[in-house]
Formats: sequence, C-alpha cells, structure tokens
Amino acid sequence: MKIHNFSAGPSILPKEVFEQSAQAVLDFNGSGLSILEISHRSKDFVAVMEEARQRVRTLMQLPEHYHVLYLAGGASLQFLMTPYNLMKEQGGKAAYVDSGSWAANAIKEAKKLGTVDIVGSSKEKHYSYIPKDFTVDDSYDYFHCTSNNTIYGTQMQEFPKVPVPVCCDMSSDIFSRKLDFSQFDLIYAGAQKNMGPAGVTLVVVNEQILGKTGRTIPSYLDYQNHIAKESMFNTPPVFNVYATLLTLRHLEKTGGIEAAEKRNRAKAELLYNEIDRNDHFQTFCVKEDRSVMNVSFELLSPELKEMFDQRCKEAGISGLNGHRSLGGYRASIYNAMPIESVEVLVSVMQSL
Ligand code: PMP
Repeated sequence: MKIHNFSAGPSILPKEVFEQSAQAVLDFNGSGLSILEISHRSKDFVAVMEEARQRVRTLMQLPEHYHVLYLAGGASLQFLMTPYNLMKEQGGKAAYVDSGSWAANAIKEAKKLGTVDIVGSSKEKHYSYIPKDFTVDDSYDYFHCTSNNTIYGTQMQEFPKVPVPVCCDMSSDIFSRKLDFSQFDLIYAGAQKNMGPAGVTLVVVNEQILGKTGRTIPSYLDYQNHIAKESMFNTPPVFNVYATLLTLRHLEKTGGIEAAEKRNRAKAELLYNEIDRNDHFQTFCVKEDRSVMNVSFELLSPELKEMFDQRCKEAGISGLNGHRSLGGYRASIYNAMPIESVEVLVSVMQSL
C-alpha cells in the first residue's frame, strides 16, 4: 500500500533522492566505495560539498559576500551560535520575535549571552498568529525571527525592515517559496524538512556582520572558522550533505523554488479549502498567517476521532498527529509531498 507521509520532520524527500542515496551507500560514483566510507577530503566528496554550497548560492541568488555552510548540531545549535557570533560581549542586546516554541528556544539560548528584548509575542494567544506591529531600533546587535512555526502552522508572509542584521530560522520552509534572501544576514535551517536527512544544518551568512562582538568564541561555534575551512573545519556529515545535494539537484530539475512555491500553494489551498468547508475541522491559527508547509488543525467532533484515525490509517496516511504540545492534527506538506497525497487526505476528511 502507498504510504502518504505527512510527518513534520524528518519528513518526506523525493523518491529519486532515496534511490540515489541508496545507490551511493552501495557504490558512490562508480568508485567501488560506499559514500559512508570515503574521506571527506577525497576529491569526489570535496566536489559534492562544493556543488552543494554552489547550488544554494544559485537558488538563493546570494551576493558574493554571503557564505554557505553545512554544519552539524541542528537548528538548535544555531540558537546558540547566533548570539555567540553576533551579540556584543559588553552590553550585548538582541531583538527577538516569540512566535512559537522553537522561537522561544532560540530566545532561551540567546539570553545566556546577553539581553534579549522580545519585541513581539503571540505566546498569550497560544501562538495562533504572527506578531507584526513592532519596531526595532538600531540599539540592537541583531534581530531574530522564525519564518515558519512548524508546530502551530503559522508562517511569516512579510519580513520587517529593521536597521540591524536580520537572522532567520527557516528550518521548516527553506526553499519552499521565493524570497529576497539578501534581506537576511543570517539564515539557518535544519535539513530534515525540505532539504535532506537530519544531521546537517544549512547556514547562510553575510560575512560583513561577523567579527564584531569582542567575544572569544569557542572554535566550532565561530562562523569565521567554518567559512575559512569551507565547511571542512571538522568532519562534516558526509552522507547527509550528499543527500542534501541530491535534493537540491532535484529541486532545480523540477523548476526551482518558483515552481516548488506554485505546487506548495496549490496543495495548501486544497487542504485549507476543505478545512474551511468542513464543519468538523478548524485550524488553530488565524487565516492570514496560515502556513503553506504545516497545516495544523483540530477535529471539532471528538466522537469522530476514532473513525477519522481509522480511515486515515486505511488510506495509508502516516505522521498526521499534531505536536505533543498542541494536540490535534498536523499535515506537513513539504516540497516533496505530491498533491495526490493531499487529495487522499482531503477525501478522508470529506468522508466524515
Ligand atoms: N526551528 C524550527 C522552526 C523547527 O521546526 C525545528 C525542528 N523541528 C527546530 C528549529 C529544531 O531543529 P533541530 O532539531 O534540527 O535542532
């Protein structure tokens, strides 16, 4: 039976990526060696890393002074690396938007290194909307936001223009829509949604914002070390970078970010239309901030839960449970999710 994987992450990737990754585990590039046993300094892998970095530059149309890094530690380590690299040691101060649990985790880490002002928060309303009406002045070392709130199903549609470096956690909507990426000075994303397997994190950083904190930064945490060593400061997650490269090649082959955005919007529209039409369902968040990647919703008729769950199971729908902190359901419809899978979910919803 075909399984429709709505998991929030690690999540669905293109089938072609699974097949090519599997082949590389057995025999990488016809070398007779597995991708799992080759040196990260080998010619073949250096070429993989180079292409994986270059493809991000091209996809995002990054200016020369931006660097692309592949690091370990997940987005969670970036919660800490961001303040280490950007918050001044003396009197450091940063502006954060608290739009969800992951944003709150980022705030928690930044507070360890300086003052954090939460300039906008939707916490009191269970993170059901994106905070918008706030100002950020130039007294801050940087501004931090989360483009897509994976748990609550909200997404920033616009990014504020602020007079300080802009940092964005794009873990759950990277490469899902066209943006002017040069409006950000630091972008990071754990790979395990739209990019590749868990275990590698993409970091895109504007070199002009670095080296200004007066801090002694532990070596691994210093972006400048990773830039100088072209993401080979230590042994990178070789297989994960390769699988990410395969996903990026696939993205380009299928029309790039613009085409992916079109497909993503069509999927989201199909699902939200059903939620709005069907009296048994509603989203947790306000309409204007709905995410195109994670559709979090609740079933309003608890007596139908058993039946809905059973029908989902029979239809091969997997990974639809909401995050444990919110409950309900969450359909993650990342780049690799075909619209046919969303149609299956919609037909089960219609059957209630
Ligand atoms: N930020 C966002 C928006 C996320 O969705 C997640 C994980 N789902 C994280 C950060 C944490 O990522 P990681 O597990 O890679 O540390």
